[in-house]
Amino acid sequence: MKNEAAYLVEKQKLEIISCDMPPMGETDVLIKVCHVGICGSDMHIFEDPYYAVKDIKLPVILGHECAGEVVEVGSQVENIKPGDFVALEPGVPCGTCEYCMSGRYNLCPQVHFLGARPWINGAFSRYVSHPARFAFKLPQGMDTIEGALLEPLAVGMHAVERAVPRPGNHVLILGAGCIGLMTLSACLARGIQNVTIADLYENRLEMAKTVGAQGTIYSSKEDLINRGMELTQGKGYDVIFETAGSQKTAALSADLVKRGGKIVMVGNIFGETPFNFFKTNSKEVDILGVFRYRNLYPAAIELCSSGRIRTKEIVTNYFDFPKIQDAMEYAITQKQKAVKTVIRM
Ligand SMILES: [Zn+2]
Ligand SMILES: [Zn+2]
Repeated sequence: MKNEAAYLVEKQKLEIISCDMPPMGETDVLIKVCHVGICGSDMHIFEDPYYAVKDIKLPVILGHECAGEVVEVGSQVENIKPGDFVALEPGVPCGTCEYCMSGRYNLCPQVHFLGARPWINGAFSRYVSHPARFAFKLPQGMDTIEGALLEPLAVGMHAVERAVPRPGNHVLILGAGCIGLMTLSACLARGIQNVTIADLYENRLEMAKTVGAQGTIYSSKEDLINRGMELTQGKGYDVIFETAGSQKTAALSADLVKRGGKIVMVGNIFGETPFNFFKTNSKEVDILGVFRYRNLYPAAIELCSSGRIRTKEIVTNYFDFPKIQDAMEYAITQKQKAVKTVIRM
């Protein structure tokens, strides 16, 4: 077996270079990667690695939304065999710290996450080895595209689990990018129907309607606050998910949230955000953070394989691995068209 990987060798430059096969432990599986999604975080690091991650040392291999075929298993692995198709949950926590022990393993400070700090190699690679306990078998009928998309779906599901919206709640999702649409899918799967989604781009709102959004706000043409208030008879939203990663929409959420409502910060907002806490305090609003996800791959697989969530609908373009440089540039420069880009290995 010969391995090669796409190394980020300098700012905005990926190079496919042959490299060693990844090391395999007794409890690991070796997978031949089939599909990898390009995530917003990959784009941030590609665009400006030194800004996105202060202590980064290039070259690095990015990519963490992946699924593939098992080609080898360690001697201690029992439940997975060569030929199985699996999705990898990219973050592997230590399993022993207070966060792991309390079940909140996404907060483990010792987590090893594919293609992220503290820099283990990512999935833009022909082969990846990974602990079997974080490799999830894909059931019959579920392909590796859906497998790769479990990762952003888990983010959306975790955001929804943080907020626990109730049936009848008015929900607003700010941003109809991949994570916004995954959050929408996760709301619908939970029986939350009354979801409005806001975005600057019309094609993304069309996609949100296809996924099942009840209302849309075209925020480059419509005033977000006026329209949001109109749609909720002046009350505001019970739950707001900020998925755009925008300081502006984050700040507006203080106006759009209902009294006693919740604001869930899903998108990563760099820098400092001016936010009026007086407004949220006077409405006794809960503000919730979201960091990745935990314990959600089995449920995400169930929702996808039963057809209750159809993640493939949001993939706008596929690129073959040798074209990964073009894929990354396309995903960044054609943001309005490229909702989700997936690499075919
Ligand atoms: Zn991701
Ligand atoms: Zn831990």
